[in-house]
Amino acid sequence: MSERSDGSLLVDITPLRKVPGSVLRVQRAGRLRGLHLSLAAVPEGDAVAVEAELAWASDDVVVTATVRAPWSGQCRRCLGTAAGEVVAEVREVYEPTSDGEETYALDGSQVDLAPLVRDAVLLGLPPAPLCDEGCQGLCPVCGANRNEDRCGCDVSPPDPRWAALDALRDN
Ligand SMILES: [Zn+2]
Ligand SMILES: [Zn+2]
Repeated sequence: MSERSDGSLLVDITPLRKVPGSVLRVQRAGRLRGLHLSLAAVPEGDAVAVEAELAWASDDVVVTATVRAPWSGQCRRCLGTAAGEVVAEVREVYEPTSDGEETYALDGSQVDLAPLVRDAVLLGLPPAPLCDEGCQGLCPVCGANRNEDRCGCDVSPPDPRWAALDALRDN
C-alpha cells in the first residue's frame, strides 16, 4: 500500500480561510502502515491519535500537534516483550509550494496530517527498547532471564568496551 492514509487524517481548512487569524482545533485517529523500527512497532491495526491546532500564516498553515501511539517490541537486554506509548509534540508548516523536505504539502483546502503523524511516530519510537529501566537482561553464561531467575553463574565484569557501547546507546 502507499504512504497515503485512508482519509481519516485529512482536515478541511476551508473554515480557516474564511476568518483571518482564526485557529482550527481537531482531534483525529487513523491507522497507518509501516510504523516500525527494527525492535519496536505500532501494532498493525492500532490507531494513532492526533490532537492538532491549525493556524493560517499568510499562504501557509502552521500545525501544532500532539501525536500518540501505542507501541510494542522486544527488550534489547532480555529479549522479552517491551511496550509503551509514543507521545510526540510537533510544530510543522504546510505550504502550497512544499519541496517535501522542510515542510509538508498543502493541497488546496486540505491538510493531510498522515505524513506529519508518520514522521512524528517514527522519530518517537524507541530504537533500543527496554521492558523496564532496571531490566537485568540475560545471563551471558547460561542464558537465563535474570529478571526471573538468579542462576548463580559466575559472571565476570563486562568488557569495558561493551559498557562504553551500552552507555552510547542509552543516550
Ligand atoms: Zn528486559
Ligand atoms: Zn547463568
